Amino acid sequence: MIPDISKIRKDFPILDQNVNGKPLIYFDNAATSQRPIQVIERMNEFSLRTNANIHRATHYLANKTTEAFEASREIVRQYINAAEAAEVIFTQGTTESINLVAFSFGEAFVSSGDEVIVTEMEHHANIVPWQMMCERRGAILKVLPFNDNGELQIELLDSLITNKTRILAVAHVSNTLGTINPIREIILQAHLKNVPVLIDGAQGAPHFKIDVQDLGCDFYAFSGHKLYGPTGIGALYGKRKWLDQMPPFMGGGEMIDRVTFEKTTYNQPPYKFEAGTPNYVGAIGFAAAIKYIQSHDVQAIVAYEHDLLTVATEKLKQIDGLKIYGEASMKAGVICFNIEGVHPFDLGTLLDQLGIAVRTGRLCADPVMDHYGVENMVRTSFAFYNTFDEINAFYKALIRLKAMF
Ligand code: PLP
Repeated sequence: MIPDISKIRKDFPILDQNVNGKPLIYFDNAATSQRPIQVIERMNEFSLRTNANIHRATHYLANKTTEAFEASREIVRQYINAAEAAEVIFTQGTTESINLVAFSFGEAFVSSGDEVIVTEMEHHANIVPWQMMCERRGAILKVLPFNDNGELQIELLDSLITNKTRILAVAHVSNTLGTINPIREIILQAHLKNVPVLIDGAQGAPHFKIDVQDLGCDFYAFSGHKLYGPTGIGALYGKRKWLDQMPPFMGGGEMIDRVTFEKTTYNQPPYKFEAGTPNYVGAIGFAAAIKYIQSHDVQAIVAYEHDLLTVATEKLKQIDGLKIYGEASMKAGVICFNIEGVHPFDLGTLLDQLGIAVRTGRLCADPVMDHYGVENMVRTSFAFYNTFDEINAFYKALIRLKAMF
């Protein structure tokens, strides 16, 4: 069934405004998506009526908040089909989720001379934490490259994985190239050599139905704010067998079992990894966002977003001098490009004058910029509330602006 986009857009009041005198066209969804009123109202209602710290006191509000927080964990668990709620850790977002694994997994399993594999197309959040861990542990970071089309050179993976490889980290969907990576194949290949796999799902979870058990991944990291939820909240899925063996990431309240000055023992997962007061209002908003997505036909949304990508790609390719970076056969709704003779920042600024929000810059992916030998790119990224009319307006705006240069 084709989703009723005009009805969906009514749930996102932010979209209904003029920017610089023009109707807003929001094409910066890969950076952060907008929140439906259902999420905003749920969080407001919660703050107005229920707020209290969780897991601590026995009073009415504390119990209600704890129940809502744990119910949110259960909603996230169901959304990704984790085997148990203990495998879902609330974090600030993808960045913290990856840092948590890089630190705790590194402490437990990585020693001098070991190897960690990432890919050339990763966001900095899936490079730097591993680099920091490798420096700490004396390990070596290895990189699986991509070809000019924006596809990982999977054929090199087998020789890249050695008996020293301790973990492999890869994006589900690239935030620059839009490539949907063959993560199932990568996981299978890595597991054949007993190498666990972390999936950076920041750009995957917002657009696809995720089933971590079916995928078989060891870790899956994602953010609430890219999934129509609030900022400052995200999740890390981790297989119980790893979480049980990994030491805590941060110390503080809630992550302990018993503290004495001589020795502290730790709580069970997920609490072992949730030191301090968590962002429980965010977690409740995150769950509301998931419920909002689930109130739609997810398959229809995926298909619609793909149509947006196809139409936009066809239109952009008609523009002389426009180069698209990343033309993988499996792509999600992200298009990065440059127009010959036009600085991406100028283009971004002029598009903004026309009410069109795109991202410009290095997109937290320096190695991707280096691969193509460019300093910056322009990125458009779509969500299911975007329309074909917006793509048309964008195309016309590009034609007009290009003629000005
Ligand atoms: N990984 C990818 C692929 C991303 O696109 C992003 C954000 O753009 C991140 C990680 C970091 O996400 P966050 O800033 O929500 O932690």
